[in-house]
Amino acid sequence: MSHPSQNPRNRVHELRDTLNEYNYHYYVLDEPKVPDAEYDRLFRELQTLENEHPELVTDDSPTRRVGATGETSFAEVVHRLPMLSLDNVFDDQEMRDFDRRVRERLGTEAAIEYVCEPKLDGLAVSLHYEQGVLTRAATRGDGYAGEDITANVRTIPSVPLRLRGEDYPALVEIRGEVYMPRAGFEKLNRDLARRGEKTFVNPRNAAAGSLRQKKPSVTARRPLDMCAYSVAVEDENQLPGTQWDALLKVRDWGFRINPEMRLARGAQECLEAYQQLMEKRDRLSYEIDGIVFKVNDLLLQQRLGFVSRAPRWAIAYKFPAQEELTVIEDVEFQVGRTGAVTPVARLRPVFVGGVTVSNATLHNMDEVARLDVHIGDTVFVRRAGDVIPQVVKVVPEKRPADAKAVELPAQCPECGSDVIQLPGEVVARCSGGLFCPAQRKEAIRHYASRKALDIEGLGEKWIDILVSQGMVRTVADIYHLTVADLTGLERMGEKSASNLVNAIDGSRHPALWRFLYALGIREVGEATAKALASHFGTLEAIAAADEDSLQEVSDVGPVVAGHIHSFFRQPHNQEIIEALKAAGVRWQSEIIDVSQKPLKGQTWVLTGTLSGMTRDEAKAELEQLGAKVASSVSGKTHCVVAGEAAGSKYRKAVDLGVEILDEEAFLAFLKEQRPGG
Ligand code: NAD
Repeated sequence: MSHPSQNPRNRVHELRDTLNEYNYHYYVLDEPKVPDAEYDRLFRELQTLENEHPELVTDDSPTRRVGATGETSFAEVVHRLPMLSLDNVFDDQEMRDFDRRVRERLGTEAAIEYVCEPKLDGLAVSLHYEQGVLTRAATRGDGYAGEDITANVRTIPSVPLRLRGEDYPALVEIRGEVYMPRAGFEKLNRDLARRGEKTFVNPRNAAAGSLRQKKPSVTARRPLDMCAYSVAVEDENQLPGTQWDALLKVRDWGFRINPEMRLARGAQECLEAYQQLMEKRDRLSYEIDGIVFKVNDLLLQQRLGFVSRAPRWAIAYKFPAQEELTVIEDVEFQVGRTGAVTPVARLRPVFVGGVTVSNATLHNMDEVARLDVHIGDTVFVRRAGDVIPQVVKVVPEKRPADAKAVELPAQCPECGSDVIQLPGEVVARCSGGLFCPAQRKEAIRHYASRKALDIEGLGEKWIDILVSQGMVRTVADIYHLTVADLTGLERMGEKSASNLVNAIDGSRHPALWRFLYALGIREVGEATAKALASHFGTLEAIAAADEDSLQEVSDVGPVVAGHIHSFFRQPHNQEIIEALKAAGVRWQSEIIDVSQKPLKGQTWVLTGTLSGMTRDEAKAELEQLGAKVASSVSGKTHCVVAGEAAGSKYRKAVDLGVEILDEEAFLAFLKEQRPGG
């Protein structure tokens, strides 16, 4: 693994400097400069070089020390017993070698019993209890001295402030991991991003950053948990003889211990435990980065002892990394079914979280700006659990001189319509909703939905088939479907085919607001569509309106006005509206413009019963045309609408020579007044 082109002494110095720098960022600033996998590779390279060249080993090498020291704002705590790290293995053979070394040291052929514990990805804490009361909590620090974080640790609900029961020693130290469960981590990062604050790269850093807050009230709001994994007492005889039983005792004192813990005899059973835990990994509600095997017998542990930075009786077998470094080779834009235009990073393929990842969503342009992503950047990619791969951080030092900024395209990559990002909106959208192939299915589904044109039977299942067969590209195409076309499709009988064609046919004369709503213009819901229809009266007027006039309508603010305006400016959307007209779709316009009110100044009277509409509907129609509707006939009456069984009013109208329309004539008259129909 050592660098062939370099003299080992120089390489050792270089690696130490780099690792010390990384340690500082990781342990002191809680903000890693590189993913753990990269750190682990360099660490191993240094270990190998030091093994090959023992004369180059120094006491201050990162391979001989734990953590990192740096300025902190907490008081120093000297550990009674050092808090060491764990040695790592990365494959089965290394695990078997570890087990062999343990047996050799103990001079035994017999299989060793190990406790297999998940390696929680958080940070170690030491908790002191005196007479059962929590008196001090400390971080690991450099293993010999840590930071006093008592006030912060007291805010973690799973840390008992007082031990349960009575059989605890007067002085006991519990060690364990403080960690942040996945869900809490994701929520915390969402909240930080929303406030424009720096997010954490992973739950470990989030836990460390939260625990080392200056204000305990901030720590208290962070979703932290604690799980115990070891116990130390003054007199070893106060403890049971095994790690397993000691942990059960710790549980009785009120601590959480990990439920995935199990016992294994010999290396083979340990390897099985590794496999089983790895299969479970994604389903756990917290992150683990490996499994720890500990010799169960505490006397054997004592006989094995420690080396400089880790015990000889335990080993961590790491799981595949969930974070890696790679390069953003390009950023492309994808159009979702509702028109959201999303930047997607094309990555140099990298093996992370157990799979090869070559794409990662960048969510939106705010996120691109927040991360300051450029094309050509080296980035941390994270893939944990079933969460889609994320770019979590850029490594600014690795930005090449020719790195390119990421720009939102002006036109939709799918259909060429304008891409619109309105002020105050996070998501950029394609404005070619009716036409864009990416939005096809959604556009048709919405058009046919109950509150829109209510085309019964035209649901998602049929839309999928019609679109994928190439029979329907836009909403206008549905009006050309015939029974013969449909019966050609699998599982479509004659009866359902003709029902569907009839339902489509029956949707040809919608009210203007329904039609407007059915177009699926962003933010134009039912109520807004109604308000627009009654304000403007015709689709032509709405399409021609500028953003200021649109905002005269109640409920229509700048964002909605922006969406409506850009929708009607797209030539493709216009073409489809024309195609709908050509297919015989006629929406009923609403006449409201004063200059267009042909019955202005006239008084009309309704009498008798109309069969096609209620008295109120007829009244509303007349009022829309500008007429006043009165209840009695006089010399001033302009016209009387006489339905079935009209009585005295009808006779009076005849006497006064007032014009009389029967229902048929009235309907024909109304129809004539409608520009759209
Ligand atoms: P470690 O995290 O590999 O292992 C030791 C730690 O494991 C303990 O201190 C404890 O906190 C934890 N642990 C979790 N479950 C445990 C259990 N059941 N029993 C015992 N311990 C348990 O070692 P470390 O010294 O804390 O850190 C080294 C690792 O940290 C490296 O392998 C690297 O992945 C990472 N690191 C990364 C960077 C970076 O820049 N990315 C820098 C420094 C360290």
